[in-house]
Amino acid sequence: MQWRLADLLQATEGRLIQGSGAGDGSEVFNFISTDTRTLKPGSVFVALRGERFDGHDFVEEAVKKGAKAVIVDRDVLPLTAEACFIKVENTRSALARLAIYRRQRFSGPVVGVTGSNGKTSTKEMIASVLENRFRVWKNPGNWNNDIGVPLSILEMPDQSNAAVLELGVNHPGEMSELVRIAEPNVGVITNIQPAHLEGFGSEDGVFREKTVLWNALPPDGLAVVNRDDPRLSKAELILKVPSVSFGLEADADVWVPGGKASVRLDVSGTSFPVRFGGQRAEVNLPVWGDHYVVNALAAVAVGVHFGIDLRASAEKLRMWRPAPHRMNVHNLKDGTVLVDDTYNANPGSVKKAIETVAQVARKVGRNFVAVLGDMKELGAEAERLHKEVGLFLVSFEPVLIVTLGEMAKKMLEDVEGSRRKAWVHAGSHEEAAAKVMEMVESGAVILVKGSRSMTMERVVEKLIEGR
Ligand code: ATP
Ligand code: MG
Repeated sequence: MQWRLADLLQATEGRLIQGSGAGDGSEVFNFISTDTRTLKPGSVFVALRGERFDGHDFVEEAVKKGAKAVIVDRDVLPLTAEACFIKVENTRSALARLAIYRRQRFSGPVVGVTGSNGKTSTKEMIASVLENRFRVWKNPGNWNNDIGVPLSILEMPDQSNAAVLELGVNHPGEMSELVRIAEPNVGVITNIQPAHLEGFGSEDGVFREKTVLWNALPPDGLAVVNRDDPRLSKAELILKVPSVSFGLEADADVWVPGGKASVRLDVSGTSFPVRFGGQRAEVNLPVWGDHYVVNALAAVAVGVHFGIDLRASAEKLRMWRPAPHRMNVHNLKDGTVLVDDTYNANPGSVKKAIETVAQVARKVGRNFVAVLGDMKELGAEAERLHKEVGLFLVSFEPVLIVTLGEMAKKMLEDVEGSRRKAWVHAGSHEEAAAKVMEMVESGAVILVKGSRSMTMERVVEKLIEGR
């Protein structure tokens, strides 16, 4: 969108403290930026305050790089004549207001995607399916919070005519702010699982926060319901907006004949039949796991709402690729298969990954190995949930389990006997990789996973180098 000075002032309710250029307000700005490293000439620079940096300290640099307007909430010097300066109450809210202004000038559908797990994957799948009919915009990467969502909206190209936006929350109250900015017409909630319990207290707390998305939809909006999730399918009964449902196990509008038993998982990916009314198709996903089947069903359900038939959706899903560090399969030189699911972890996604990787290993007759780091942000439940995952893991009889981190160490503490013998605890990423290299024969199927801050991809890199 081309911004004029008048748009900026109206959107932010800011005050012009220093004019520039022609001074008649005719100048246009093409981009909004909060980061001088990526700022393009002719942009508006919004000085945000983060945990480590304050954008106000970078104003001079922004102007040097060609920012033509600067939005600040405290006095900065020098006020050079090359840019106009707008003062607002708070730059973070000004960014939200700019996004709202842009959103209100966008007439295409906006699909909001939230849930405990699988938001990014589902967002990408929905975008792929909608490509059948629209020029789709989606958040770059994982830009899903109160800065990422406004920036995603502000970066939307003029030619886009549909948007799919991941909305991520970890504290109560965040969702109402995100939906105020994104104003979704379609609301997808992937699932409710224990994640960010530090912020929400319990799964019911997670549920209340996520369903704010459905409650914010307009009367002609659409809720997309995962019938396999008990809380969500119950909530469907009291929805005030139309809905379309999907389910792998449960009976739903978009459904899988034969349920879980008809999902075929092998080294090349996951395939399953899908039906909606009289339509049917076979979906082949280039990723392992029935959790991705569920994500794909959500995407098919959104497609159905926009009149996209199942076969066209299936074709787009075949071309879709998982985002980096989400169930990425590496075939190493020595025949070892390494599964990099290190993007993030919570009990739900770790159990899914374990189940999936163990299943493929069994199917191809290989040994199963798990390298697991801490699952963060689980508050008072952390120890119990780690132990639960530990018990779940040993039931798949991995030949080796390597843990990294203080909480991950608790996973196997209560496990006894021979199953405990398969476990070693590592003090560093290097040691974790070294243990695997030393103790595991070529050809094993190895899962590596942990929360983002555990940077478990470092173990993956070491293993790729070493084998
Ligand atoms: P974040 O909250 O970090 O943004 P996200 O909700 O966007 O995460 P993804 O990035 O898609 O989720 O996937 C994160 C992890 O969850 C990956 O390990 C992935 O394999 C797993 N995952 C994906 N979909 C599901 C699902 N439906 N159920 C459980 N786990 C899933
Ligand atoms: Mg995400």
